[in-house]
Formats: sequence, C-alpha cells, structure tokens
Amino acid sequence: MALTKKDFDHFKKILLSKRHALLGDAVHLEDEAVRKSKDEAATMDITNFADLGTDNYEQEFDLGLLEHQGETLREIDEALDRIANKSFGVCGTCSKQIPKGRLSAKPHARLCIPCLDEQEKAGC
Ligand SMILES: [Zn+2]
Repeated sequence: MALTKKDFDHFKKILLSKRHALLGDAVHLEDEAVRKSKDEAATMDITNFADLGTDNYEQEFDLGLLEHQGETLREIDEALDRIANKSFGVCGTCSKQIPKGRLSAKPHARLCIPCLDEQEKAGC
C-alpha cells in the first residue's frame, strides 16, 4: 500500500520533531562533555586520580551517545530528503514498500524488516 501525501506530511512532522529533540539533546550533551574535561583539567592533582577513571568513563559514554545521535540525525535528514523526492517509505535494498507500522515505530527506517535481517546476518 503506497503512502499518501497525508502520510508523507505526517511522517515529515514526526521526523522534524525528532530532529529538533535530537539537536537539543546533542547540544546539551556536547556542553556537558566539554565542561567535564575542563573541570578535570582544573582539578587535576594526584589525590583525584582514582576519581578521574570514573569521570573519563562517563565522558566517553557521553561522546559515544553523541556519536549515536549524530548517526540517527543523519538517518532522519536522509528520510526528510526521501520525503522531498517522494521515495520515502520504500526499502533501500529491495524497493518494496516498508509497512506503515514499521515507519510509525521508526520513520527514518531505510530498510524493510526482511532486508534489515539480511543485512544484520551479513554483519554490515
Ligand atoms: Zn527490503
């Protein structure tokens, strides 16, 4: 079942609000990661060494999260591009229509479930 213009508008709205939320989060996380490094530099002395390990771990975790968000953000931007050129909702591998239920759960999905499974099995 092909998507209607109404569906396109609907998913566009969802994607835009997700994008907005992600950007807000990313800015916040970036600030926090940078601030933590500065705090560490300022308080770096031998008595703090034990604590530093934990802080570094947290910082890496934040940056990892940031990377993940960057990835999602790119997928969302690509989905918005696909809405603009009317190829949204079509599997990038087999060119079949991605079920609307899947798009509702993950509007930036690029592949249908069978293709996603294949890709995961292939490990790339
Ligand atoms: Zn497919």
